Formats: sequence, structure tokens, C-alpha cells
Amino acid sequence: MTIPFVDLKSLHAEVEDELHQVFSRVLDSSAFVLGPEVKQFEKMFAEYVGTDHCVAVNTGTAALHLVLASLDVGPGDEVITVPHTFIATAEAITAVGARPVFVDIDPVSFTMNPELLEAAITTRTRAIIPVHLYGQMADMDPILKTADRHGIPVIEDACQAHGAEYKGYKAGSMGVAGCFSFYPGKNLGACGEGGAVTTNDARLARRIEMWRDHGSTRKYEHAFPGLNMRMEGLQGGILSVKLNHLDRWNRERRQAAALYTKAFTGTEITPPAELDDRYHVYHLYVIQAENREYLRNQLTSAGIESGLHYPIPLHLQEAYSSLGYRRGAFPVAERVANHILSLPIYPGIASEAVARVASELLEGCRVN
Ligand SMILES: *Cc1c(COP(=O)(O)O)cnc(C)c1O
Repeated sequence: MTIPFVDLKSLHAEVEDELHQVFSRVLDSSAFVLGPEVKQFEKMFAEYVGTDHCVAVNTGTAALHLVLASLDVGPGDEVITVPHTFIATAEAITAVGARPVFVDIDPVSFTMNPELLEAAITTRTRAIIPVHLYGQMADMDPILKTADRHGIPVIEDACQAHGAEYKGYKAGSMGVAGCFSFYPGKNLGACGEGGAVTTNDARLARRIEMWRDHGSTRKYEHAFPGLNMRMEGLQGGILSVKLNHLDRWNRERRQAAALYTKAFTGTEITPPAELDDRYHVYHLYVIQAENREYLRNQLTSAGIESGLHYPIPLHLQEAYSSLGYRRGAFPVAERVANHILSLPIYPGIASEAVARVASELLEGCRVN
């Protein structure tokens, strides 16, 4: 029996009838881009996150990009983020012509180390983007405190954290804006691409609405040259259906994570740390082990899929060699990249499957 890394087919089977209704409705109305289905989703998602506004776009990368563009971040500006994230976080910064400045991660949470933030701020810093990695929010209070002292906006990369919480606040509700991806494998995923920005700032929301639709307020009247980053009607409808199940799906992820963590506690496998003041939604379940490559091969031979999120920190990627960072610049991110391993986790994963993954790994530790 093979164990997949994610299982979207079973997830969608649960809501198949509702999804078919969405397809029929959208075919019927021909509202293929934005339209009522997207509007409805924006309303529902803003309510879910607890913000006044939500603007739906076509990817998480676009969400980050358009927030930066709407804040007039551009050439000559610096934006602070972490090197241990998916490249999209940094791509949004370079897309507007600004320069990514990295700060190292905390060795326990794997998210931005707030103690290192102050030293990275310069007169050119225009925004700070903490990443709520793997489904657990970054340490927002000290990050916001430092940012506020300098008058710098904080943009949350919440692309892996739909429904996650920090001291009771939902991901995407604490910064100037929250950026979400609805890539199919995310905790809330479209049947295709999707993204959104959540914010309490009406002016910012309006600017992003214009940016996603060619800088226009009315058809063929353009206030500035924008882009085309609109959400499709079909995805809006699908996301509204799936949002109703998100909390339960997150609980199922947490149940699987608890089983893994129980199995790994007191062994050579280091389970992910779940911090007291946070609600972790386990987009990914990421362990640390000394012999990561060996264990990964063991899993593969046992028919168990696994992943590496992410094997090369951004400052060591060829794409960002021009930033001039060297090996050793961010020791925690570099060490973590060599020891992490992401295990299968998804809503509805059988506890037998979790147990088998855990026992294969522990067996691998024993013989290695
Ligand atoms: C998925 C992801 C993105 C980008 O989202 P897309 O919808 O794929 O463009 C950005 N940041 C992080 C941390 C992500 O995991």
C-alpha cells in the first residue's frame, strides 16, 4: 500500500455534489471572471479571518505582489522577510523592483526570529513580511512592536496558514494585510489557482481591487497601469463551498499531527514544536532528523511519499545570487534546510497510515 503526500481526490469526493452545483451555476451565468461567486467568497473569507475586507486574486504570489504595489513599494526600497520560505515570498518583492533583506528564523518555530529584526531595518525598509510557515503563525507581537516603532507596515504571508491563530487572532488579521494562496494543496484550495488579500484598510483594499483589474475603477477607465490578477468565478464558488469545511479539515490535520508527535516524542526524530499561544493548522508536518536523506529513501522504498520544504534557503538560491549573501549568513535556516522532512498529512488521513509512516521512520532510525 502506498501512502500519498496529499489526497485531494478523497477531499473533493466529500463535497462533490456541492462542487457540481457550482459548475452548473457558473456555466449558467457565464460569470467566469470575478462576478457574484467571487464576491460571495470575499465576503465569507473576510468574515472568517475577521477583517473588514477581502480582495480575491488569482494566486498567493499575486496577493503579496499587489499589496506591495499598492503600498507603493518599488525600486530602491527594501522589504524584510525570511530565507526559509517558498520563493514566492521573495519573488513578490523583486516583482515590484524592491530588494529582499533576509533575517534568520527561530530554531524552534522556524518562523522569523523577532530578536534579529531590528538590526535588519534601514532607512530604506518599506515593509516586513513574516511567513506563517507550515501552518503555524510567526511570533507577531514582538514583530509588530518593532515594526510599529519604525512605522513600517507588516504584511502577513499566510499562504500556509488558513485558520491558524496567534493569541486568538486569526492569520491574516494582525498585519496591514494578510496574503493567502488557494493553490489546490493548501489548507483551503481551489480547483486551480487562487489567492486573496485580507485587510481592515478600505483604501488599501480599493487599490488592490484596481491593481488586479488593469488599474480601473470602471470598464475602460484606467487610473494607473495595473495588471490582470482577477480570480475566476468558478474558483470563487468552489472556495465558498470548501471554506465551510475548513475548520473540520484543520482539526483532522491536527489529529494526525498529534498521532505523529506522540510516536516521535523521546526518539531520534524531532517533532515540530507547537507553541502554547498558537493554533497550528499543520499545512505540513515537518520533522527534523540527523540522517534525513537515508530516512527519506527508506520511506520511498516503503511506498511512502515525503517532501522537503525547503531544501535550499532563498539566500543560497541561484535566483538570488545577485543579492550577495554567502553561505553562513543565516545559520539556523541553513541547518534546518539540511535536516527537515515533511511527512504525509491531509484531512482524512487514516490513523493506520500515520502509524505506518511513523514506524517505518523509527525502524529507519534503529538500523541506521
Ligand atoms: C504557496 C505559497 C505562496 C504562493 O502562492 P501561489 O498561490 O502558489 O502563488 C507564497 N508563500 C508561501 C509561504 C506559500 O506556501
